[in-house]
Amino acid sequence: MAAMNFKSTLLEKIPRSSDTTSYRFSRPADYTFKAGQWFTITVPAPSGPLDHHFSHADSPTEPHIELTTRLTGSEFKTALDGLPIGAEVDIQGAYGAFLFGYDKPKIAFLTGGIGVTPVRSMLRYLADTDGAGRVPGQELAVFYGSMTEDGIVYKDEFDGFEQKISELRVTHVITNPTPEWKGYGGFITAGIIRAELSDPSDWTYYVVGPPPMITAMDRVLAQLEIPQGQIVVESFAGYAS
Ligand SMILES: Cc1cc2nc3c(=O)[nH]c(=O)nc-3n(C[C@H](O)[C@H](O)[C@H](O)COP(=O)(O)OP(=O)(O)OC[C@H]3O[C@@H](n4cnc5c(N)ncnc54)[C@H](O)[C@@H]3O)c2cc1C
Repeated sequence: MAAMNFKSTLLEKIPRSSDTTSYRFSRPADYTFKAGQWFTITVPAPSGPLDHHFSHADSPTEPHIELTTRLTGSEFKTALDGLPIGAEVDIQGAYGAFLFGYDKPKIAFLTGGIGVTPVRSMLRYLADTDGAGRVPGQELAVFYGSMTEDGIVYKDEFDGFEQKISELRVTHVITNPTPEWKGYGGFITAGIIRAELSDPSDWTYYVVGPPPMITAMDRVLAQLEIPQGQIVVESFAGYAS
């Protein structure tokens, strides 16, 4: 499917955590994409139009386009957040090959922070389509790193996915947990993956997030001796932290 250029308007801003917001835009009827793909958005700014790449946080089953991001104070993010409802932007897409493996018997997602956006898109799509096309008995595991419990983006939705999507387990790993937290603390490690997956070498790993997350997960997957052919990566190049 060839990429499309189109005008879109801001419909809604949805706070997701103290520093993370989703922006919903109108979606033309003829715009198609696959869960896991990304687009380029161009917003007006005082110095001229600015563009950035974002994964679709929305699923193809939803009527809008959604991007979710952490506000960093950059010129682009300030311009994005300053848009009034109804403001017009340019969108170009869809791009990318970070696509759900319907034929893979076991998929583990390794993600953290804002890297969750394409995973949310894929899981929302599976939930909305009853997982049609998945190989029978397919197992899914999500290892989802967040700085704090309050900072888990789309937490309620991920809880719901565990009820709606068969054979899905979500494991949260909190970098700075409160004393009340009963789950894993720190970062996603080979030890956590070994504890949750009895047979880590049988899984295909979908790794997505900012470059430091990708580098960290490269090390973890090397410790687990996972061959490159079982690793699918989407790097949010340009996301510094
Ligand atoms: C496929 C893809 C999907 C993405 N999806 C998301 C998403 O869902 N949510 C999200 O928040 N972000 C996503 N990003 C990252 C996003 O495009 C921005 O780079 C990021 O949000 C930081 O923007 P900023 O305005 O805060 O920082 P900026 O001021 O734009 O840049 C931060 C730092 O990165 C450097 N930099 C900028 N662009 C690049 C580049 N292309 N390569 C290397 N270094 C660069 C800058 O020099 C600066 O040091 C995605 C990126 C890609 C490539």
